[in-house]
Amino acid sequence: MVRQNVFSNPNSPYLQLMQAAHCEMGDLEKMVASKGLEQTLLTLRREGVYISFEEYKGRKPLVRNGREIPIRAEDFRNRNLAGMLDAETGGSTGVGRPVGLHISHIAAQAPARMLAFEAHGLQSSPFAIWMGVLPDSSGPNNVLRSAKYGQVPKRWFAHVVTADSLKRRLKSRLYNRAIVVLGRLNGIPIPEPEPLPFDQALVVAEWMSEELKSFGQCVLRTQVSKGLRVALAAESAGVNLTGATFVLGGEPVTPGKVAAIRRTGAATVPMYSFSEHGTVGIGCANPVGEDEIHVFQDIIEVIQFPRKVLGHDIVVDAFNWTSLSPTAPNILLNVESDDYGVVEERACGCGLDSCGFRKHIRNVRSFQKLTGEGVTLIGSDAIRALEEILPARYGGSPLDYQLLEEEDNDGLTRVSLIIDPSVPIDNEQDVIETFVTATGNHALRQVWGPVNTLRIKRQKPILTSRGKMNPLHLLK
Ligand SMILES: [Zn+2]
Repeated sequence: MVRQNVFSNPNSPYLQLMQAAHCEMGDLEKMVASKGLEQTLLTLRREGVYISFEEYKGRKPLVRNGREIPIRAEDFRNRNLAGMLDAETGGSTGVGRPVGLHISHIAAQAPARMLAFEAHGLQSSPFAIWMGVLPDSSGPNNVLRSAKYGQVPKRWFAHVVTADSLKRRLKSRLYNRAIVVLGRLNGIPIPEPEPLPFDQALVVAEWMSEELKSFGQCVLRTQVSKGLRVALAAESAGVNLTGATFVLGGEPVTPGKVAAIRRTGAATVPMYSFSEHGTVGIGCANPVGEDEIHVFQDIIEVIQFPRKVLGHDIVVDAFNWTSLSPTAPNILLNVESDDYGVVEERACGCGLDSCGFRKHIRNVRSFQKLTGEGVTLIGSDAIRALEEILPARYGGSPLDYQLLEEEDNDGLTRVSLIIDPSVPIDNEQDVIETFVTATGNHALRQVWGPVNTLRIKRQKPILTSRGKMNPLHLLK
């Protein structure tokens, strides 16, 4: 892949990075043979062969040794893949970006996914998804990936994407239709997507309940906050979901949300993906934390490397990703996602471990988010305060609390604690005190106290255009 997409591609940004590091194709081959892949990637990273998150997204120019290297999104595209479809991501920034979607890459992700379902005993479980339709690629990806090995979803609940032109809508509808029709022509009963608004989560809970009565188990693949909506709807309707499994991704799989879902009796399995590549891992069956996943090292590799968080003195061990599959839509060579966390190799003894997937990732956090007036809330304390401590004390669920960071008319950062109006609050100051104390962050009190930056807003938490709810929402 490097030979074809880097050394034979004069437009590849990596080519100039390799040249600056004095690394030729032959050097690379020797290094991989003698040191192995991971050490090679670390060596390259130290020598400047990497693309930071901001550089990849075009928010910062790519500068090495004082020289700017021009980059365009298309320069990362895999030159060996024809027939790529531009879908949109559910980007957590709230703005959908086009992302390459290729049928052979969906197929390449199927084997590891099948093994993961097997490791969790879910391979013959009735299965539904509640995810997007095109132009959001999340639904089609999940339908096709599992259909590849014969696990066809019984229902495809689709969230409705509104902000879309008529032309795009028509094109997307044709794509979605084609997936269903072509599947059926080939004997694969792919279901029609059923539009389902966010407040209709009980429909999904009732489907799960029916399947549990007949089969004793079922799987729902959805985003974290939608999974929680289903769980809350089940809880208030008195539906027990023991035997069900929520396969969750798209948003951080946090302890508070997982605990609220598990109260219904259901189990949860995390899934981790990012738009530039697709799925990179699924939950371990003997996990040490609710978000622990096995990295699918057959198609992607990850190393960690320290980097400063923009505008802060904090250094995090960011994930640097390298695509290994010839089907990868984008060539990634030490490309940062905006995440960091724990990467470790351990013998967990689950089915994925015995297949050779040794590398685990857990405690995944974004380093782009959770800043505010020079005070960093990075870490699990703020999320725990929002998702566990506040709901326990004042009522509501993790879906009722959110931090909103926005700039006021003077360009100053204002942070609001959004609380859904359905939660009764008598004393707002008391809530602020509880929140600040719960984050355990004294700097927060010092900075936010005097300038009165933190305030309470009574409104529904804000969702991204793809219906995701982030614990901290940035409006800039
Ligand atoms: Zn495992």
